Amino acid sequence: MFSDLPTRIKECARNAGFDLCGIVPVRDFAELHIFPDWIADGKHGEMKYMEARDEAGELKRAALARVAPWARSVIVCAINYNTAHPYSTQVQKEHENRGWISRYAWSHEDYHDAVLRRLRQVEGELQGLVDTTGYRVPGTGNLQLRSYVDTGPLIERVYAKYAGIGWIGKNTCIINQQLGSWLFLGVILTSLELTPGLPSPDRCGTCTRCITACPTQAIVAPGDLDARLCISYLTIEKRGEIPHELRPGMGRHVFGCDICQDVCPWNRKSPATSATEFEAREGLVNPALDWLAEMQPEEFRAVFRGSPVRRAKLSGLRRNAVIAMGNSGDRKFVPTLKRLCEDSDPVVAEHARWAVAILEQSIQSPVPSNQ
Ligand code: SF4
Ligand code: SF4
Repeated sequence: MFSDLPTRIKECARNAGFDLCGIVPVRDFAELHIFPDWIADGKHGEMKYMEARDEAGELKRAALARVAPWARSVIVCAINYNTAHPYSTQVQKEHENRGWISRYAWSHEDYHDAVLRRLRQVEGELQGLVDTTGYRVPGTGNLQLRSYVDTGPLIERVYAKYAGIGWIGKNTCIINQQLGSWLFLGVILTSLELTPGLPSPDRCGTCTRCITACPTQAIVAPGDLDARLCISYLTIEKRGEIPHELRPGMGRHVFGCDICQDVCPWNRKSPATSATEFEAREGLVNPALDWLAEMQPEEFRAVFRGSPVRRAKLSGLRRNAVIAMGNSGDRKFVPTLKRLCEDSDPVVAEHARWAVAILEQSIQSPVPSNQ
């Protein structure tokens, strides 16, 4: 039976609700060598957790073989989180001048929890397979399994590519030919030596839509994203002040940005997910900006309980909403923004002053009607 273990593992992944599963040996893939340079260039911004190093001083995310020497293979699982909703920036007429939230954050449950639960189910089934057959794992003799969602000592998308899940697009997302790029990835490190799949061929071709569409020119070269310029980073990870020159490009994004995926031709026919946890909560697809900007801690905790949006923290979310109001060109926000200029959160207050100035400027010099 164990000659066919990869097939059985893929069955376990399907049973757990994953759409895709692939297997890849632990290797020193060429793409992993780009990561230290990316960190050295500071393109990760303030995401200090990416700088974590092992005892030898190597970046943990690019040193799986040293950090987990027992690991022989990586099982990469992916689940589609697309919904039938239009793109976040395609706001319905009745919701004019509302905010934009990234598709992955519309859900009822944080994807880390939803994906980890499924990985644990795969782990359990795999352990059961090994136990019932008395299979002896080569080397240590013990079956070791460890699941991660975004937190493992590896760069998931590199392993996903070599496991055949999809190729790494110029927008740095994993793209599957059938499902597109609305995919959550989870990995299981295992001490099992498993027959690997084939890597996915690159199908971006001559397309450069994502690079051209990025409002802040964050994709500085194909597959090279400068997080410091990226709206996802700015709205979620960046604390405190957003550089003035980047604020106009942020549009009405209040959490994340999907533009480089929205424009990708491989997402045109992405099917909707069948996982109920990833269905959109209606109020979150296009939230009212003044509601977010004036949100109090208690309401933030209640509305975003179990949601990835918590990562931005209340101060960050309110700051983002204030920038979005400034970028809306809608003077109905001026009274709220003027109130927020005196806010007890100095970050919110400073961004509110900027937003008022932008709106007053646009009122004084209105855009000609033929544009
Ligand atoms: S997420 Fe948005 S800002 Fe970031 S690279 Fe993609 S299009 Fe650009
Ligand atoms: S938009 Fe084009 S270049 Fe960008 S990831 Fe998609 S296919 Fe590749």
